[in-house]
Amino acid sequence: MRILVTGGAGFIGSHYVRSLLEGLYPDCADARVTVVDKLSYAGNRDNLPARHPRLAFVEADICDLPRMLEVLPGHDAVVHFAAESHVDRSVESAAEFVRTNVGGTQTLLDACLETGVERLVHVSTDEVYGSISHGSWTEEWPLAPNSPYAATKAASDLVARSHWRTHGLDLSITRCSNNYGPYQHPEKLIPLFVTRLLEGRQVPLYGDGRNVREWLHVDDHCRAVHLVLTRGRAGEIYNVGGGDERSNVQITEEVLRLCGADWSAVRHVADRKGHDLRYALDDSKIREHLGYAPQVPFASGLADTVTWYRDHPNWWKRLGHEGAAGQDRTGEGTGVSP
Ligand code: NAD
Repeated sequence: MRILVTGGAGFIGSHYVRSLLEGLYPDCADARVTVVDKLSYAGNRDNLPARHPRLAFVEADICDLPRMLEVLPGHDAVVHFAAESHVDRSVESAAEFVRTNVGGTQTLLDACLETGVERLVHVSTDEVYGSISHGSWTEEWPLAPNSPYAATKAASDLVARSHWRTHGLDLSITRCSNNYGPYQHPEKLIPLFVTRLLEGRQVPLYGDGRNVREWLHVDDHCRAVHLVLTRGRAGEIYNVGGGDERSNVQITEEVLRLCGADWSAVRHVADRKGHDLRYALDDSKIREHLGYAPQVPFASGLADTVTWYRDHPNWWKRLGHEGAAGQDRTGEGTGVSP
């Protein structure tokens, strides 16, 4: 089997590729993998093995149709992770989000149709649903995205679905909750806080910190994506949740403890514009239909993640991200929430 992974040099995509190459998914233990990634600020070639007999790396933009038509032939399946993924950046400027997330997805889908790719998983997000004060979203819930990031993900999600409905492309969509784990760019909440605390610096907490997210280890997300790739049904959407619900205050509390710091290291800053209060997924469909169950308990997953950042300062210091090393891009309110 030949699998093409877009965005495979990013946080989640690279975890998926490493898992495939390490043989963690027995049904694809021999799969050959092609990563297509334009290596934006969020993409890092070092997240992947420098050399591996079953890995090919192609530096390319998914918006580039001729390149996609060149690269796709011969692949049996595509797992589409590539996206602009940081909400705060989309609040500052949405243009690149529309270009990559909507235009890039549409270009990729058209190229898949033209080259006869047989199977595709489009990796979407729970943020397409908006915010929910109580209860949880099923896949039938109306989409009401609030941030420009979420709006472009909702648009790409619908463009993907339309390629199934209109053209019969065999594709499924996943909508996952917040991920955490190693190799996550330090602009996102957990790695930002961890790297700052490891440097003895303060961390900025948005607003009153009551915003609630469901946190899932990247390993569980990737296992779910692979289940959907190999056993999911065409045209179906699968929520991927089952993580732990935590407010940003609770996350801060746990990260402070694991880094040996206390609340004097926390500075409250103005809230993000349009900050969603709570996300919560009903993921009974993927559990019942595909046998999905998350395996990484939050407490040990978070502790292992902190240890990974402690043990790999060269990985995050080299990124030169302001969250870890210098000033925030646009002030201290930047980059403090996923
Ligand atoms: P990331 O920002 O770490 O990685 C994105 C990757 O895509 C990078 O390697 C980047 O170089 C690449 N890329 C960006 N634009 C590209 C383009 N035009 N052409 C080719 N490559 C391009 O993101 P992530 O956190 O790994 O998220 C991966 C996917 O999962 C995204 O689609 C995101 O919406 C979705 N998702 C993320 C989370 C989360 O908590 N991080 C949760 C649910 C869903």
